Order: sequence, then C-alpha cells, then structure tokens
Amino acid sequence: MVRALVLDDGDQPRFAELSEDDLKDRLPDGEVTVRVEASTLNYKDGMVVKGLGKLVKQYPHVPGIDFAGEVVDSQHPGYSPGDRVICTGWGVGERYWGGFADTARVKGDWLVPLPENLTPWRAMALGTAGLTAMLAVMKLEDHGMHPDQAEPVLVTGAAGGVGSIATSVLSGLGYEVAALTGRAEVHDYLRGLGASQIVDRSELAEGKAKPLETQRWGACVDAVGGSILARVLSQLVYGGSVASVGLAGGAELNTTVMPFLLRGVNLLGIDSVMCPYARRVTAWKRLSHEMSMRTLDELSHEIGLSEVPEEAGRILQGQVRGRTVIDPT
Ligand code: NDP
Repeated sequence: MVRALVLDDGDQPRFAELSEDDLKDRLPDGEVTVRVEASTLNYKDGMVVKGLGKLVKQYPHVPGIDFAGEVVDSQHPGYSPGDRVICTGWGVGERYWGGFADTARVKGDWLVPLPENLTPWRAMALGTAGLTAMLAVMKLEDHGMHPDQAEPVLVTGAAGGVGSIATSVLSGLGYEVAALTGRAEVHDYLRGLGASQIVDRSELAEGKAKPLETQRWGACVDAVGGSILARVLSQLVYGGSVASVGLAGGAELNTTVMPFLLRGVNLLGIDSVMCPYARRVTAWKRLSHEMSMRTLDELSHEIGLSEVPEEAGRILQGQVRGRTVIDPT
C-alpha cells in the first residue's frame, strides 16, 4: 500500500492508502519505483492543491511536482535498486501522480542521479525552485553576466523559494545582489542570504514604466512578472539580460520595444519542467557545489504531509519564506 495525499475535484484534500490496483491505473507504465524520502512545496504545488489554474485535468490526483528518494524497483538501464534519485518537472504532480506520497513511479528518463554531496532532504530544500534559480543563473551567464560588472543583479520575489536560492547562489559567486521584496520583515533574512541592497517592491510596482529609465541593473532573475518585469526591462543596463522565471505578481507584460532596440537588452525565458537532461545534471551539480549547505538548511523548514493543505494556501498568498521540505512518512 502507498500512503498519499489525494485530491478530488473541488473537495478538501484527503489522505488515502492506495493499492497496487490504484497505482496500476494511474501511475505511468512504471519504469522506476522510488521510495520517497523527501518532497517539497513549490508555488505550483500550491496552485494544484488549491485547484487553481486548471493544472490538473483528471481526478483523483496525487500532487507533488518534486521528490527525492531511493530506487526500489527499476526497468530502466540507468537505475538500480538502492540508487538515490531526484525527480522534478515533466508533468509529475500535474498530469501524473506526484511526490506527496511515500512511493512514486515515473519514467527513468525523468530522473537525475542525486549528486554525491546532497541528501534527499537537501535536494528537496532546493527542489524545482533551486533548479530554476540555477537555470536562470546559467542562462544569464550564457548572455554575458559576470561578477565584475558594475551594476548589481536584481532578484525579484527575493524572499520566495526561487528568489532566496538565486540570491544566495549569486552572492556566493561574487555578484552584488539587490533583493526586491514586498515584506519589511524579511530584510535581515535577505541580507543574511548575501543581498547587499534591499529594494522595496513599491519602488518598482508604483507608477508606469517609461520606455527607458536610468540604467540600474546589470541583470535580473525575475520571479514575479507583470508590471515589475516591465519596469526592470526599462532599467537594465545596455546589453543586460533578465531571466523571466515566474508570475507571482502577474502573467501580463505591457512594455515597449525601446529597451530592446536602443539598449540591446535580452528577455530570457526559463523553463524547468521540460529542461533537457544534460542541462539539469549540470544545474544540479552546480547547486550541490555553489549553494552554501549551511544557508540552505537555514532557509528551509520541514512540514509533514498533513500540513500541506494549509501551507499551500500560505505559499499562494506570498507568506512562505524560503523553502519547505515535506516529510512523506
Ligand atoms: P514563492 O511563493 O516561494 O515566492 C514568490 C515570491 O514572489 C513571494 O515570496 C514574494 O516575495 C513575491 N510575490 C508574491 N506575490 C507577489 C505580488 N503580487 N507581486 C510581487 N511579488 C510577489 O514561489 P517560488 O519561488 O516557488 O516561485 C516563484 C515564481 O516562479 C512562481 O510564479 C512560480 O510559478 C514560478 N516558477 C517557475 C518555474 C519555471 O520553470 N519557469 C519553476 C519554479 C517556479 P517577497 O515577499 O520577497 O516580495
């Protein structure tokens, strides 16, 4: 039997013991079965658990877009029982049953090996948020971001999961980081992650962006989108880039082409869900070396499966600080 958090369309989440028959029907033709040792709560999990965004098409559903654990059975040539693995993205927890359970079964190609110096718990403290933050850093580097640049890198939604890890990684790599937040109570936390400048959200959220404003940011990891992203585009330095990661502040983007035409700036899209295997492996390896494990432990807290419904509401309201690891046992 598998113990899982189960969602029914429109009802409160429930806990259920699922039989092999249930699993056969709803887990993909299983190549690899994993004993889940840790999972995590991302913004998208909040949306799935609360039934928002039509992300789930078929109920009953087991949410959880990320998990890490030990392989117990494998028909995939790359994995054997006893291997430790990470799963993020590929529609797991959305189209397929996910990691808010003590066992998960997925295609082997969706997994990456757990890097040597990470535990399942720490891998989930990073989770999709950490992977996405690192993919953003890598793409900004591909487009010329360098620690020697004069202007700071702006991180928006800085106290959230993606923002916290981006702030810490960038600061560890030697960048000057400006952290944009809407919460006064997280200023010390953000300085602790390495931000040297705090920008109040209202500074960029209020007023309409002019096509070109004073050049303030050498690059940006943007987790919020909307009017703040429009403002950031008009404030990037000549040739600067913004990695568009999220939409916590809105999905629309009203801007002009002026920053592109007159300053040659780049708007770079980041997708962690379908990201190819080799890039994922590189990103996880870099996270395992370039993220301070001490900081990671400090910015993460643990909850049990039974606390997920409440925490899902909090993450959607922007009230969760840092990262949430879920103990599925
Ligand atoms: P969190 O909820 O942990 O963080 C989001 C942060 O955004 C909040 O902590 C808050 O930061 C800020 N925020 C919240 N509401 C608003 C608002 N109305 N206006 C401006 N800022 C706001 O989420 P994650 O870090 O897990 O994810 C961030 C975004 O990235 C989400 O939109 C998510 O869907 C997306 N995402 C995309 C991925 C991809 O592959 N592209 C993968 C992972 C996430 P503060 O309090 O500091 O202002």
